[in-house]
Amino acid sequence: MLAFCSNDYLGIASDPRVVAAVHEGLDRYGLGAGAAHLVNGHTRAHEELEETLATFTRRPAALLFSTGYMANLGILQTLTERHDEVFEDRLNHASLIDAVRRAGVHVQRYRHADPQDLEQRLSASAPQRMRLIVTDGVFSMDGDLAPLPALALAAGRHGATLVVDDAHGLGVLGERGEGSCGHFGLNSEDIPVLMGTLGKAVGSAGAFVAGSATMIESLRQFARSYIYTTAMPAALAVGTRVAVGLVETESWRRERLNQRVARLREGLRQIGLPPGPGGTPIQPVLLGSARAASTVAAALYDNGLLVPAIRPPTVPEGTARLRITLSARHTDLQVDRLVETLQTVMRALPEDTVPQPLSNASQNRDTIAQGDISECP
Ligand SMILES: *Cc1c(COP(=O)(O)O)cnc(C)c1O
Repeated sequence: MLAFCSNDYLGIASDPRVVAAVHEGLDRYGLGAGAAHLVNGHTRAHEELEETLATFTRRPAALLFSTGYMANLGILQTLTERHDEVFEDRLNHASLIDAVRRAGVHVQRYRHADPQDLEQRLSASAPQRMRLIVTDGVFSMDGDLAPLPALALAAGRHGATLVVDDAHGLGVLGERGEGSCGHFGLNSEDIPVLMGTLGKAVGSAGAFVAGSATMIESLRQFARSYIYTTAMPAALAVGTRVAVGLVETESWRRERLNQRVARLREGLRQIGLPPGPGGTPIQPVLLGSARAASTVAAALYDNGLLVPAIRPPTVPEGTARLRITLSARHTDLQVDRLVETLQTVMRALPEDTVPQPLSNASQNRDTIAQGDISECP
């Protein structure tokens, strides 16, 4: 199968230098970390990776988590108290939605990527409460960017703290791959709490939070999803550090990726499928009904192409889609093959599954994010 659903955007997961570093790490440290970070699971390799991530994101400090899901739980649990107020984008990733829910705070979900709606809600809320604005940097199902400069301004005007989950921006955006913040030229004052995952463009596994030394120290002391779990294997930390170096220095990977994205978008336009809003490697093809999305995904599968159909409740009702993701490892020929097969498959669709054009408004319907139940056929 030729896959168009991996988040290994830069093709780093299989880079021989990363693989060799993990081998060395295994020889040195063995397999498991043996305990949590605060017991004896934290090795020099973890410490060095945290330093590397802080430098890479130009923040004073960084803390490793075993997964992005756990990092988000830790952020919300540690930085909020019961009566605080959290403002979240309606299309945020399920892990953020779950983390906000579990924190037991007051929640307001503002319209997708809409700073004006956010401002109105901030103006109407009690200023004595601690307020957090929480958003994906790049939205995981739509591939569009959050309007971070406007969100940062709104946060500044209302004394709120902006938290950005940059799972899909890190490695892909910014000249050094530093992510959405770098793309928009924002610094750690604009975005005091930055979360990044290591399982996507970095090609490894795990996650981190970066920010002020005080904030990072609070997470270390209080985030239950950091404290009460086994540290990531040290060998993984060794390999990940090499991977972060490749992300930063090998910008040809981003250039190649961007070429493939442009080629796909042009191809989709030519076959009458309007590409999505963002130029990121997440390229959704909106098909409307869950049935249409499943039918097209199954037909692609029969042609050797793995493209997942993403359906409600992962995305709002009426916005079922193919979620195509590209990698620097895809060739032009492979991208062309996807476009050609899509064209053939769409032509052969039964009448009642032919997709209807979608309005942008439908994107603002609420998602019932009950975890990612996206499906590879
Ligand atoms: C993938 C993802 C996560 C979860 O990260 P894991 O390390 O896979 O648990 C969190 N937020 C966003 C936006 C994601 O895309």
